[in-house]
Amino acid sequence: MALLQISEPGMAPAPHQRRLAVGIDLGTTNSLVAAVRSSVPEVLADEEGRVLLPSAVRYRSNGYPNIGHAALAERANDPANTVVSVKRFMGRALADVQRLYGELPYDFVDADGMVQLRTVAGIKSPVEVSAEILATLRQRAEGSLGDDIVGAVITVPAYFDDAQRQATKDAARLAGLTVLRLLNEPTAAAIAYGLDNGSEGLYAIYDLGGGTFDISILRLSKGVFEVLATGGDTALGGDDFDARLATLALERLQLGELTEQEQAGLLTAAREAKEQLSTQEHTSLSFNAKGKLQTLEIHRLELVKATEDLVKRTLTAARKALRDAGLSVDEIKGTVLVGGATRMPHVRAAVAEFFGKPPLINLDPDQVVALGAAIQANLLAGNRNPGDDWLLLDVIPLSLGVETMGGLVEKIIPRNSTIPVARAQEFTTFKDGQTALAVHVVQGERELVSDCRSLARFELHGIPPMVAGAARIRVTYQVDADGLLSVAAREMISGVEASIMVKPSYGLGDNDISRMLQDSFQSAEQDMKARALREQQVEAKRMVEATTAALVADKALLSADESNRIECLLHEVEQKKESTDHHAIKDAIDALSRGTEEFAARRMDRSVRQALKGKKLDEIT
Ligand code: AMP
Repeated sequence: MALLQISEPGMAPAPHQRRLAVGIDLGTTNSLVAAVRSSVPEVLADEEGRVLLPSAVRYRSNGYPNIGHAALAERANDPANTVVSVKRFMGRALADVQRLYGELPYDFVDADGMVQLRTVAGIKSPVEVSAEILATLRQRAEGSLGDDIVGAVITVPAYFDDAQRQATKDAARLAGLTVLRLLNEPTAAAIAYGLDNGSEGLYAIYDLGGGTFDISILRLSKGVFEVLATGGDTALGGDDFDARLATLALERLQLGELTEQEQAGLLTAAREAKEQLSTQEHTSLSFNAKGKLQTLEIHRLELVKATEDLVKRTLTAARKALRDAGLSVDEIKGTVLVGGATRMPHVRAAVAEFFGKPPLINLDPDQVVALGAAIQANLLAGNRNPGDDWLLLDVIPLSLGVETMGGLVEKIIPRNSTIPVARAQEFTTFKDGQTALAVHVVQGERELVSDCRSLARFELHGIPPMVAGAARIRVTYQVDADGLLSVAAREMISGVEASIMVKPSYGLGDNDISRMLQDSFQSAEQDMKARALREQQVEAKRMVEATTAALVADKALLSADESNRIECLLHEVEQKKESTDHHAIKDAIDALSRGTEEFAARRMDRSVRQALKGKKLDEIT
């Protein structure tokens, strides 16, 4: 693998030929496909004129799954084979899925790396399920565009880690799509509003969907977007507003316990009522329970009151994201609304009040991400107009580092670096004659490897034997435009090299990321102490090995007394080596270092004499 080559997808098109490319919003609840036609981005509808494809796949024993609306229609009868919200499982291990989402109606299989699902059509991975959705969108696009498409830009949440991004790419490949680029959802929304053509500045993307809330802070400068911070709540969305209305209805009507079916009917009615209240001052909520149709009149203000705290929670997350980016609210130049739940007027009003200016709302909040992806896809496919050639940047959420002696982490790419990025650092060998080097790639903010997440390991073999510290091993970390990491190690003198594409076996969510960051802030002092201790322990080990080797080789240069004294000092370092007091280890090392100064000088003199033996003065330069 070549080092430091970052290829920009999309080549120049042949003259007069437009290359068709699509943008796909692969959403948790719904997915969309959009394309630029006659210079205008638009979402593409199915044969029945529907633009939203429910992200649902129902597997059947005949091998032909139902996708989208057809799958949802059968969900209640066949929950175990109807996979919904599969995005939550992408790149995740079974343990993560169970911890995050609790009881689900699927028969999960604990596969190596990513969880899988047992269905009547066999075992399916989340990648295969997503591929069914993507293939349906591809067929829709080819049908309405009347030609093959050269590729797609697929959007992912800004906080998606390597494993989740890789899983999304794999799903696209399986669906027969060439991925031009994975694009962060908030960035796509900003592009849809043409913010990239506007003046420079900071923007907030407020995305309240059915089940999740995401807030992202973007900076546009010199036509380049950079994600400065992301935040949100993976368990807060329009569904919670429905649940509040349902609770309100139950209290008002004093119905007591409902059956599961009645409860489901109530939630559907609550959702409809909530959506109507976005355009009407009041509405009626009707559902079947206790053998009859129950009806309740609801005023918009009641919805507002019942959900005030939910809206506040979104603003708390927004405040935190601003703090993370080191910004104050009045520095934000504009706010973009994404997600169906941002149609609620009280949500819009709260966002306007918080940011001190009305948000951008001209585009359909359900379509804005797909539209932005389509614009980007059109550019990457090579259909650029002069002046369109900007590059998009995102950031990596957690630092990427390498394990060094003593289980310490050396950060190579710091958190929040914009991607694509490539950084290299030189390392050396620890022991004389060392011919192999283990590279352990880790992710996280903490100082010790044991507190970070292990991403990959590989070995560099064939280093020519040299004295410790003489080899020069250049380790290069490269994160491509999709946020995927590859690591290469090269011994600079011999040219031997080894590399790895990092495909971590399980994912990290936004909550994990915030937890890891919080841990690192809270543990900063303790980490520094731990680092100091490990450094002294490594130095002690090195000194003991070097002094022992010198005594074996050159004891003759010392008197018995001198040799005894050095052995005593050496013994002291050996004793202290495993102590938990880094000052004590350092004192012992310093004492040994001082005690061996004279010995080192004599060894040096002798080597120089040997090297110069037999040479004339004028031969020595
Ligand atoms: P999304 O995940 O972006 O498709 O958003 C779905 C959420 O948006 C669901 O909770 C819907 O009930 C909600 N939603 C869609 N339309 C409206 C509307 N007109 N008013 C309020 N909420 C809506």
